[in-house]
Amino acid sequence: MTLRCQPTASHFVNGTPFEDEAGAPFDVIYPATGEVIARLHSATPAVIRAALESARAAQAAWAARTGTERGRVLRRAADIIRVRNRELSILETFDTGKPLQETLVADATSGADALEYFGGLAGSLTGEHIPLGADFVYTVREPLGVCVGIGAWNYPTQIACWKAAPALACGNAMVFKPSETTPLCALWIAEILIEAGAPAGLFNVVQGLGDVGAALATDPGVDKVSLTGSVPTGRKVYAAAAAGLKHVTMELGGKSPLIVFDDADLDDAVGGAILGNFYSSGQVCSNGTRVFVHRRIKEAFLNRLTERLADAVIGDPMDEATSFGPMVSARQMEIVKGFIASGTGEGARLITGGRQIDRPGYFLEPTVFADVTDDMTIAREEIFGPVMSVLDFEEEDEVIARANDTVYGLSAGVFTRDLTRAHRVIGRLQAGSCWINTYNLAPVEAPFGGVKQSGVGRENSRAAIEHYSQLKSVYVAMGKVDAPF
Ligand code: NDP
Repeated sequence: MTLRCQPTASHFVNGTPFEDEAGAPFDVIYPATGEVIARLHSATPAVIRAALESARAAQAAWAARTGTERGRVLRRAADIIRVRNRELSILETFDTGKPLQETLVADATSGADALEYFGGLAGSLTGEHIPLGADFVYTVREPLGVCVGIGAWNYPTQIACWKAAPALACGNAMVFKPSETTPLCALWIAEILIEAGAPAGLFNVVQGLGDVGAALATDPGVDKVSLTGSVPTGRKVYAAAAAGLKHVTMELGGKSPLIVFDDADLDDAVGGAILGNFYSSGQVCSNGTRVFVHRRIKEAFLNRLTERLADAVIGDPMDEATSFGPMVSARQMEIVKGFIASGTGEGARLITGGRQIDRPGYFLEPTVFADVTDDMTIAREEIFGPVMSVLDFEEEDEVIARANDTVYGLSAGVFTRDLTRAHRVIGRLQAGSCWINTYNLAPVEAPFGGVKQSGVGRENSRAAIEHYSQLKSVYVAMGKVDAPF
């Protein structure tokens, strides 16, 4: 099973696997066992140059195809991904440690959705006609040129496709750098795009750490940078892009509120809190990690939550019965253990979990703290692990103010049977992606992204088109030129 993990080459450039062993080697580790499953090389300046040059060379001819032709390639790629979903999901599980039960339905399939959706839109990307009496203006929707995508490690296949699909649909080319923790799946997506009919150079993958991302973000030949990552990295990449006045999309971190009113369906609210804290072992940017529960139902909520968490099947991620897997890396596990220690140290009540599980790999127990207060570190900082903080509240105005008291603004959720209240509260929450009576569903048809320090721009939906294209406006005079002299 592990054989497929070692790719033919570290990078994918100009339509083919591409190696340069002069680049610093790094190992890919299967998080469920700690075993090395592949060894890759970081991109050298020569690899980066080759990738950018091939993207530039491919872009103009690609943009000159009709939208329908471009869309057909993307939709074919979506079909191929669906046929290979199981193999891709197994590779994603090796890369990330996420249970196969999840990767089979949430990763390659979500990438295929994006390719299908933007493939369908490609033929309908048009400008408009603006009448001005006898004269008129028309607008042309043009691509930006060469886009750089930089990914986080939690959803490597999905992130590659969420960035590539709108970029390519609009007629751009892309150079994608996966996180060095999870470099494998993007290479396969690149191969599939070629198989689907994309020209060589249209979608390139280069590997490496932050320095490779930084080299791409500062390159004068790059027109746009789209990052999925943490806020600190976002600041650096945004600043680097600003120096060249490049377009940006920033999908960054969060510390999102999930508010459970006392009239909520308790089981649904508990289910939403589980989805919003423990899916992918809590390594999801939009997680509702500050769970505000009305004081009247707090103990009932905690009891039901504890019962449901006892049903988590923790273990071998390749076993489809497993519903909770390891953290992505030893480093991430140590970071999360530090947050758990701070929760206990600052006086939060540990309801369940809190320990590393005694088995190979990077397994932490699903952890719930109650009696968390707004000033505690676990209520302020993004943890990016399976740690839920439950906070009490009594009044609607109070909980809205506390929910908004953060530099982040990625997501928010409300559980209540009172739909008037649900819309009123959601209307006042400072967040880009919100849910009422569910949590963390992100269909490609809906815009996804954050406000405040959680991001700039939107992925998915028609909104993403605005971030991968620009308008040329053309004034057409039908009469004589009326000059003053
Ligand atoms: P990081 O911010 O550490 O890294 C993100 C990517 O940026 C990686 O590929 C990284 O390379 C690269 N990078 C690091 N430094 C630089 C730099 N100076 N210039 C250019 N690129 C750089 O995030 P993680 O990978 O640790 O992912 C977790 C974070 O991502 C969390 O904060 C999470 O909230 C956020 N996230 C946001 C999502 C959203 O849609 N809003 C979705 C998923 C995650 P390398 O890691 O190889 O060094």
